[in-house]
Amino acid sequence: MIAEVIVDVAAYPIDRPFDYIVPEALTSIIEPGARVKVPFGPRKVIGYITKLKEESDLEASKLRPIHELVDLEPVLTNELLDLSKWLAVQTLSYEIDAMQVMLPAAMRAKYEKFILVNEPEEIDDIEFSLFLAGRNRVPMKEAESRGLLGVLKGLVKDGIVTVDTAVSQQTAMKKVRMIRMQDAVELERIKETLHQNATRQIELVNWMIENAGKTIPAKSITDELGIQGTVIKALIERGAATEEYEEVYREPEAPGLKDVAIPVHLTDEQEIALDSISTSIKNEKPETFLLHGVTGSGKTEVYLRSIQQVLKNGKEAIVLVPEISLTPQMTARFKARFGPLVAVMHSALSSGEKYDEWRKIRRGEVKVVVGARSAIFAPFENVGIIILDEEHEGTYKQEDTPRYHARDVAIKRAEYYNCPVILGSATPSLESYARATKGVYTLLTLMKRARNQALPEVTIVDMRNELKSGNRSMFSVALAEAIRKRIEAGEQSILFLNRRGFSSFVLCRDCGTTVECPNCDISLTYHRANERLKCHYCGHEERVPLICPECESEHIRFFGTGTQKVEEEIANLVPQARVIRMDVDTTRRKGSHERLLRQFSEGQADILLGTQMIAKGLDFPNITLVGVLAADTTLHLADFRAAEKTFQLMTQVSGRAGRHELPGEVFIQTYSPEHYAIELAKEHHYEPFYNLEMAARRQYGYPPFYFVTLIQFTHEDVLKVADFAGRAATFLQSNLSPETVIIGPTAAAISRVNNRYRYQCLLKYKKEPKLTETLQQLIRLYRTDWIKAGLTMSVDVDPVSIY
Ligand code: ADP
Ligand code: ZN
Ligand code: ZN
Repeated sequence: MIAEVIVDVAAYPIDRPFDYIVPEALTSIIEPGARVKVPFGPRKVIGYITKLKEESDLEASKLRPIHELVDLEPVLTNELLDLSKWLAVQTLSYEIDAMQVMLPAAMRAKYEKFILVNEPEEIDDIEFSLFLAGRNRVPMKEAESRGLLGVLKGLVKDGIVTVDTAVSQQTAMKKVRMIRMQDAVELERIKETLHQNATRQIELVNWMIENAGKTIPAKSITDELGIQGTVIKALIERGAATEEYEEVYREPEAPGLKDVAIPVHLTDEQEIALDSISTSIKNEKPETFLLHGVTGSGKTEVYLRSIQQVLKNGKEAIVLVPEISLTPQMTARFKARFGPLVAVMHSALSSGEKYDEWRKIRRGEVKVVVGARSAIFAPFENVGIIILDEEHEGTYKQEDTPRYHARDVAIKRAEYYNCPVILGSATPSLESYARATKGVYTLLTLMKRARNQALPEVTIVDMRNELKSGNRSMFSVALAEAIRKRIEAGEQSILFLNRRGFSSFVLCRDCGTTVECPNCDISLTYHRANERLKCHYCGHEERVPLICPECESEHIRFFGTGTQKVEEEIANLVPQARVIRMDVDTTRRKGSHERLLRQFSEGQADILLGTQMIAKGLDFPNITLVGVLAADTTLHLADFRAAEKTFQLMTQVSGRAGRHELPGEVFIQTYSPEHYAIELAKEHHYEPFYNLEMAARRQYGYPPFYFVTLIQFTHEDVLKVADFAGRAATFLQSNLSPETVIIGPTAAAISRVNNRYRYQCLLKYKKEPKLTETLQQLIRLYRTDWIKAGLTMSVDVDPVSIY
């Protein structure tokens, strides 16, 4: 038997499977999707079996045998194997990268497999019993060298033994301390010996009598009784209990926030949406829904009920949530509904925790996964629904190779499983909304908030007027006043600092003008290195002006400000305010994100001040004020999606206010009050924004009217990078259809990173049948020749941002 194996050799220029002989002993147990160790040149490397076949096209003498089988149970299902092939083509990446992106990082680390014996008396194979010799934990390698893998597989199937991977130290299996209580008689006897002043011990021993004979985690005991661990210790010393350690899955930090009440009745709009999804679930048709609902309209409730139906049918659900909205509050809602059937996957988990969650999914111990982007590859085998909340979020696109979009992967997987995909958002991406209006997706709309609360009153504050009247602070008079009022009333505020595009554009503080490219409808990007402004769409370049080209004011400067500075200003403004600051600095430590949110939800602060990470997913009843300090920063990003991103962000942040009984109020401070992205966010109206933005995209030839592909190059030498980028452009020009527009080569907005110069070409096309083939040829050229010259090249089909 021959196995086709994709080997894990970084940067090896040939991206195809290699044939290996399957040793006789492995023929009955080996399966596609399993990892193997194979000889490759002088080394042994890890590879993935993609196919088994009887014959190879190569001569027998050229073939080498597989060295070792790493997994008895394949880590990649057949569906995921096929998906990886598709993904590699779609994203123009190596197949090995497409496979590895589907697996938790711990599986790429060092590992060793062990056999764990659960029921030694059940083993009837004499040879295997002799081999174990009474041991209950044996390296799998030993079983392999004794030719016992066949027997082992049978034993695993019957649950008599299990095979587990021991990953490097920090990701090893976790153990918890368990307390085993004595029987009631013994406990009563010990109780008599306690001093009557030892009230904590008496309380504990009484509790133990009620739980006599049970084994309970020490932590649950201390939590439930509110006692210190030393009390348990004291009783253990008296013989009331014994302690032992038990292997467990790591539980990602428990939310500790109040559970959300389960609504009894759906609103009419929710009812209609759910009906439509239910029909699709019943019909077992792949169908993509766009659930467009204003903030607080009860989209999550619709997800939860759809999942309930899917689970009833014995199927599984994948729920994707952007990293920053994967808050304890969000996961608590899923856990409250589906309890231990939920696995949570997000980047704050340690690699060991992620690996534990992944194993629960692979073993079918959970039915629902809630996670960030990579959870789209959850190894379920009977998927019944896939949900992307906040589908417009840029983080659904992976920035490194393989540059996939979770939305595309979701739709692909749903085709395989004949199940619906739900894309939910208050501010859908232009692409998705356009597809919904064309009937490619089914549009479901929730116009009203679930509890009929009014959307918050939004006031746009023109910061140019503040400056004119002598206010140089970051806070307008109106916002400062609103904050003071909230503190007096004991209500909470959120202050949002829009930091994207920090210091990267030039703005006039008097008239709000930003310097734009004469050829494109886009702000010029400030290049710190040579003090110039550049357009990386068309290559236009100019000096940084000293006075505003519109009003000749001298108050023209780079724009940007930090959260720390804002915190200081609040202290001057309202000294009694208690502030929690949430940004990359204060949330770096594991668990700090949860801790800060918990403090805020418990009313330990009046103001939550933060960046992007507080824009979404928060649902606290006492928040009645939201202030946006600088709405402009995303607006002037050198990106065709700048207006879309700004509108989305303003709408999302505003949605944090007044979600419960108390009405909400929002202040958006801006230097561009007349820009449609800001003006329309005030009215919470998506459609007028969509129409205006679509007109702009059509006029300038951007998605969704055109597709774009971005090709970026880096090299230490600026002349070389320009040369290679030029060669690539020439190659593309002669191979692609004449209708395809090639912009560039131009220097990238960030023209040097880590001392490497960056260049890029942008392709724009409506139809380009030769795209994949041509790009594959270009990549082959790069891998075989250019890479040796020190160049790096990346291809991003359908990029989220282009700088
Ligand atoms: P979204 O996901 O659209 O922002 P949520 O599902 O979070 O909205 O709902 C907003 C709030 O309204 C939540 O507190 C939720 O518990 C509540 N809610 C949702 N549906 C209903 C309903 N049918 N009746 C009463 N309250 C509801
Ligand atoms: Zn000006
Ligand atoms: Zn330009």
